[in-house]
Amino acid sequence: MRDTPTAQLPDVDVLARLRLCERERFVHQHPHSCALATRSAAHFLFGVPLHWMRDWPSPVTVFVRNAQGAELTCVDGHQYADFCLGDTGAMFGHSPEPIAQALAKQAPNGLTTMLPSDATARIGERLAQRFGLPFWQLAMTASDANRFVLRWARAITGRRYLLVFDGCYHGAVDDTLVDRDPVTGATVPRPSVLGAVHNHDAYTRVIPFNDLDALAAALADGQVAALLAEPALTNFGLVPPLPGFWGAAQALCQRHGTLLVWDETHTLSTGVGGFARTHGIVPDFWVAGKAVAGGVPCALYGFGGDTAQRMAAVKCAAPEGHSGIGTTLSANALAMAALEAALDHLHTDATYARMTQAADVLEAGLNERLRAHALPWTVTRLGARMELQFTPATPRNAHDVRRAAHPALEESLHLFMLNRGVLLTPFHGMMLCSPATDTAHVDQLLTVFDEWLAALGL
Ligand code: PMP
Repeated sequence: MRDTPTAQLPDVDVLARLRLCERERFVHQHPHSCALATRSAAHFLFGVPLHWMRDWPSPVTVFVRNAQGAELTCVDGHQYADFCLGDTGAMFGHSPEPIAQALAKQAPNGLTTMLPSDATARIGERLAQRFGLPFWQLAMTASDANRFVLRWARAITGRRYLLVFDGCYHGAVDDTLVDRDPVTGATVPRPSVLGAVHNHDAYTRVIPFNDLDALAAALADGQVAALLAEPALTNFGLVPPLPGFWGAAQALCQRHGTLLVWDETHTLSTGVGGFARTHGIVPDFWVAGKAVAGGVPCALYGFGGDTAQRMAAVKCAAPEGHSGIGTTLSANALAMAALEAALDHLHTDATYARMTQAADVLEAGLNERLRAHALPWTVTRLGARMELQFTPATPRNAHDVRRAAHPALEESLHLFMLNRGVLLTPFHGMMLCSPATDTAHVDQLLTVFDEWLAALGL
């Protein structure tokens, strides 16, 4: 069922032997992480404060001593070139200087007041300048921002249905944690989701990415409040939009009165202002989290003047009481200070030029090796991030990604790299370059990649 010819995949026994060696090597090299994992297990489920932290391919999780720029040091004293960057939260590097300074300045002057400050108006002006939308609201996480946008979208359109793409991830948002049955096309619950009591097929429709016919059909009855999408799928393999897809998709949304919501939490890597600004497309709602305030918990959503009026109208018409939108610590003083510093110093052409430059070198180096070894694999790129895919062509949708998936090979690459001082994102084969990523970091990754190919006999 795979696109890749088996001749160019490593022998299963070689892969299994290498896995054993690498796991032993990890344990030998990380006595302190192993000891902390055992100790932490007494009080943390799975020995970690967030259970995902066990999803790395190593026998125990690496415990971090400190992280700075594009590097991270573990408690065993090993230094890593970090291409995971907190799964994008640290896209601008770990603890960027302007963020550290802004936090130090704000920390003694109030952390959270549930009131705006003298910086609020200034930050609003900067947001409009950088991201091109005039109105804004804040949240603490991208999951929350998406949840809140969905509430607004349903409230202002008076429609119940949500449309997402197969393979989407928009955080811990129940409505979006669904899959598409490949045979019937029906929405089905995502089997990994715990504690779900509702099957969101009642109100969520799922279609393949890059499929305008499916989009037209899903919108045709005029009942869909919003299409919530990443401009390129990034969480299920990197899947870029086909040329012209978004222009046509936006026109379809407009024709059917469906709001277009772009979640740019990951595609912020495209360029200053994300995919939207880079490609000159203005969605109805624009969402970002994670890296938006330099890695300090903060998320936001922007919208246009007409949408703002519709939002104000539904809020004013509702009875007094809970709106179901917002959390107490949203827009707290510390997050706002970090956001302002990020807008001034991180969301800039200079920063993105450094990220893109490092990504250029990495992409070229990987492609050179795929050519030299005649490997039918692909490097798919989106600004500062890229993904090595074990398939000859860039996937067009989640179905292509599923067909090309090779979890054992992916795990092997991750652990081999980790054991040699290079961190890749555990949940997918993403490599992200920060402004602090330099040619030495890229060279290190490429050298280890050579060693991995040799170890697999490829
Ligand atoms: N949107 C996208 C596109 C994401 O990739 C993620 C997290 N991977 C989220 C939203 C949720 O972010 P958070 O976990 O910070 O709420």
